[in-house]
Amino acid sequence: MTLTDAPRDVRAATLTAIESALAQFDRAADHLDLSPDSRAILRVPKREWTVNFPVRMDDGRTEVFTGYRVQHNMARGPAKGGIRFHPATDLDEVRALAMWMTWKCALVDVPFGGAKGGVTVDPRLLSAGELQHVTRRFATELQGVIGPEIDIPAPDVGTNAQTMAWIMDTLSMHAGYTVPGVVTGKPVGLGGSEGRADATGLGVTFTAQRALAEAGIDLAGASVAVQGFGNVGEAAARLIHERGGRLVAITDVGGGVANPVGLDPARLKAFLSETGTIAGAPGTDPIDNAGLLSLDVDLLVLAALEGQVTARNADAVRARVIAEGANGPVTPDADPILAERGVITVPDILCNAGGVIVSYFEWVQNLQSFAWPAEQVADRLRQVIFAAYDRVSAVRDEQAVDARLAAHAIAVGRVADAQRIRGIYP
Ligand code: NAD
Repeated sequence: MTLTDAPRDVRAATLTAIESALAQFDRAADHLDLSPDSRAILRVPKREWTVNFPVRMDDGRTEVFTGYRVQHNMARGPAKGGIRFHPATDLDEVRALAMWMTWKCALVDVPFGGAKGGVTVDPRLLSAGELQHVTRRFATELQGVIGPEIDIPAPDVGTNAQTMAWIMDTLSMHAGYTVPGVVTGKPVGLGGSEGRADATGLGVTFTAQRALAEAGIDLAGASVAVQGFGNVGEAAARLIHERGGRLVAITDVGGGVANPVGLDPARLKAFLSETGTIAGAPGTDPIDNAGLLSLDVDLLVLAALEGQVTARNADAVRARVIAEGANGPVTPDADPILAERGVITVPDILCNAGGVIVSYFEWVQNLQSFAWPAEQVADRLRQVIFAAYDRVSAVRDEQAVDARLAAHAIAVGRVADAQRIRGIYP
């Protein structure tokens, strides 16, 4: 069994992403005493597409791929959300991720609704050429669905700045002129924002640092375990390491590495580029996900996939703070178990919002054709995510609820207000 299979077995036995997203929404709606009309509107996606498209593979065969785009809500602005390339991606997963994007954008108060997209594919099994063809054909299928005023994708699991460049180029070719604002997370030379590549990891670092401080722990010197070493996990590990955090274990899809004295993320990244995984890097001991999740550490950063800490393994968690770099890594049935054990969780829609915050900055820069310096991006990111952190903490303390409910109540309340004030057309 590979490590990729393992968490899915756990997921299947507990809550799926869509079940988790709906349970969290219902809890927030009950807390807010949301009207039946608002509940009915916000509980379902506004629009969703499934596309099946052929791609000519390197060996001459034609393969048909399935992709999705779901726009959950656009009451507060154009939809925003990443595109995922993963073999387990399906419509329900994309629906859940789109709903979480709606709440995330509302919580950090950027003028976007929520969306998500995905293609059911393992990008590691494609050649560079095939990956480009899948991306460009999927982008073509989304013509008219995405655009700077409608819905703006960004990178997610299995996609990166190069993927965004191909999508931007494809839709620009069709338009006949360059449309940089159609996606965010582009390379800086193509209208991407300074600081976007590290933005999610930086937001995770900022919010984790705040949560550790609440527990009386300084990030400098704290012991840290990280699940996932991709866009989010690698950046978070590196930025935490730069601030003096001691990385004692990291896992990725191929396995994991541990060293109680501390791991060097730069060396792991170099090893990953050579071998495709961090597992087996020199000077490290092997560790699997179960081992990582049960480590006695100050901070556990979950930056891989949803459904990792569930009712089945939550009582093994010994971390003081969990930072949800991934979307939905802790299922609702695990939350009370963690709370009972005194674990502080920084909820995903707050913890990993750095990415969409800087995506918003990138979109603004593209619309203005004016680029901001890196320091300005980092300063503004800090201001926006700390304002959201303060608001969540205030609601948590004033209303005596957990941070996840506080975050969802703020977000759902804002979207419901926007929806109600706009009214129902016609
Ligand atoms: P990525 O594809 O760049 O990285 C995913 C990482 O998880 C890889 O290191 C992969 O090896 C690892 N992984 C996969 N399966 C694993 C397993 N079974 N055990 C351990 N590690 C495993 O993806 P990403 O963009 O870093 O996204 C990670 C999470 O963060 C997702 O939940 C995504 O939705 C969320 N997120 C991403 C962004 C962003 O800006 N990219 C923003 C907000 C939230």
